[in-house]
Amino acid sequence: MVSETVLAIDIGGTKIAAAVVDAEGTVLTEQLRPTPASEDAEVVFEAVESAVRGLLADLLAGQDRIRVGISTAGPIDSPTGTISPVNIGAWRGFAISARVHQVIASANGDGAVRVALAGDGHCFALGEHWLGAARDVDSMIGLVLSTGVGGGAVLNNRLFTGTTGNAVHLGHISVNAWGPRCVCGGHGCTEMYARGPALVAAARRLGWVGGDDARALTAAARAGDEIAVGVIDHGMRALAAGIATTATELDVAVVVLGGGVSRAGEVIFNPLRRHLLDFAVLGHVADLEVRAATLETAGLLGAAALAFSQE
Ligand SMILES: [Zn+2]
Repeated sequence: MVSETVLAIDIGGTKIAAAVVDAEGTVLTEQLRPTPASEDAEVVFEAVESAVRGLLADLLAGQDRIRVGISTAGPIDSPTGTISPVNIGAWRGFAISARVHQVIASANGDGAVRVALAGDGHCFALGEHWLGAARDVDSMIGLVLSTGVGGGAVLNNRLFTGTTGNAVHLGHISVNAWGPRCVCGGHGCTEMYARGPALVAAARRLGWVGGDDARALTAAARAGDEIAVGVIDHGMRALAAGIATTATELDVAVVVLGGGVSRAGEVIFNPLRRHLLDFAVLGHVADLEVRAATLETAGLLGAAALAFSQE
């Protein structure tokens, strides 16, 4: 018997990946397309459709039921299968689930097609829980630190989606009720202090001229630059407060941190862990662990896990 496979689709702001994945998490075949993010809605979808069509023959071989998982930037509305990703301006209320369903159903005759949709932070958490840094625990928080701050949680071995699919929105919880207004409309959100561009902007305000991105800033911190060390410390304190709040609320003891900024390693993890001691103070989170992500493609593999989780 041919082992069951699913279709995983990871729609990012710069690239679209679609893959046939088996139950062990092995990517059997993959199609990549650049994301034409500045084009109109249909042009963006054509890139998704073309990637999916490139996999249909492999996907339909030996199985009549097709399960699909889609990872995309939020906000999403999972009950209706529509998305308005922050990094793809042309898609507002775009019916991605129905459109992908249509492409596959038209090729699958009478076979059943099931499509599940989740935010990229949720898929990151699912991927790291299934095959990555948190595969030994039942409950975990996944956190992506890059140009934004995203997240998701697996609780008792199930993705915690919330009502609309936007649960555990770690970038936009307030860690400073008197802080400046955030782009989301709130005040003092974690993302305002901890995201890569915010760290760089803070360093520049203090006179740092060592570069224009977080990679340069973390490299400077590693070399001992006092401004770089200071702003990262400040940002990681804000992030630590947000992580501790979330972990305390959800009663979770393992956080997996990934994303571009986190790849700088100990210059990020050290201050984050130190500040966590100040906020994760209740007994059930006193041993809160922050682990580095281990998967290169957690979002894609998380989309596969999402697909497998469907009946
Ligand atoms: Zn916000």
